[in-house]
Amino acid sequence: MRSGFASLLGRPNVGKSTLLNQILGAKVSIVSDKPQTTRTQVRGVLNGDDVQVVFVDTPGIHKPRTPLGQRLNDTAEAAVGDVDVVVFVIDATAPLGKGDRWVASRVPRSAICVVNKVDAASKTTVAAQLLRAAELGLDEYFPVSARTGEGVGELVSEIARRMPDGPQLYPDDMVTDIPEAFWVAELVREQLLAVTRDELPHSIACRVTEWDWPHIKVEVLVERESQKGIVIGRGGNLLKEAGIRTRSQLPDGAYLELAVRVDKDWQRRPKAWERLGY
Ligand code: GDP
Ligand code: MG
Repeated sequence: MRSGFASLLGRPNVGKSTLLNQILGAKVSIVSDKPQTTRTQVRGVLNGDDVQVVFVDTPGIHKPRTPLGQRLNDTAEAAVGDVDVVVFVIDATAPLGKGDRWVASRVPRSAICVVNKVDAASKTTVAAQLLRAAELGLDEYFPVSARTGEGVGELVSEIARRMPDGPQLYPDDMVTDIPEAFWVAELVREQLLAVTRDELPHSIACRVTEWDWPHIKVEVLVERESQKGIVIGRGGNLLKEAGIRTRSQLPDGAYLELAVRVDKDWQRRPKAWERLGY
């Protein structure tokens, strides 16, 4: 038996969480087109013949503007040490920027570089991006599409090949170690990010305050009174829409109650994030 850990690192929005979900064939990490959606390390387990890989999704590494932003970077960087493989992800559709180089400088040279979103870039663009990425001096380069799955099989084979001898780390039937309540709160946040616009996403946090299946109550925290109305929407339409979208991903019969509350400047208060599990 071989087993080990593989961390996914990179700038925000390059598709790390989408890649984790594609690798596992299950939605374990929430995804959005807004940056800094992932706020914790998210573990997902892949079982192969005689090999188990524990993938660790991380927050995107960025220039922090708030104490929470700094916290997210620390969470991501903590996933570099003590793992067997670091997977550094970049976006084929965006120029390789300072931010990517910064992250690249913090991963070991043995890291695997993934050029993601090849479905959305021309062959020439992908080739050019691979050439630029090669200058980062990492060990191997894989063009993939986390969305379509193109190239993901080859990537996973290489990661699995690199796992050292070791025992099974999680039971066969365990895809993730995320507690169910945390997962539901994350789904609500994902759907709120999908239905709301602008900078608000950073100010939203969700937590389950009551779990009495099938009745689940989720509290949606915002930072200021003025944000409350934005999240609720005209006549409650946004909150309602987010609730419907979340429920469609839960087992039949789930009854979801959403309530919005102001937790003033929670992003700036470490005690507040700790309570949220970030
Ligand atoms: P993360 O911040 O790195 O975890 O990125 P996400 O997984 O949340 O994805 C950010 C955005 O990129 C979302 O809108 C995804 O749907 C999109 N995305 C991720 N992977 C791909 C891909 O392979 N192709 C395309 N076209 N879009 C992708
Ligand atoms: Mg993510």
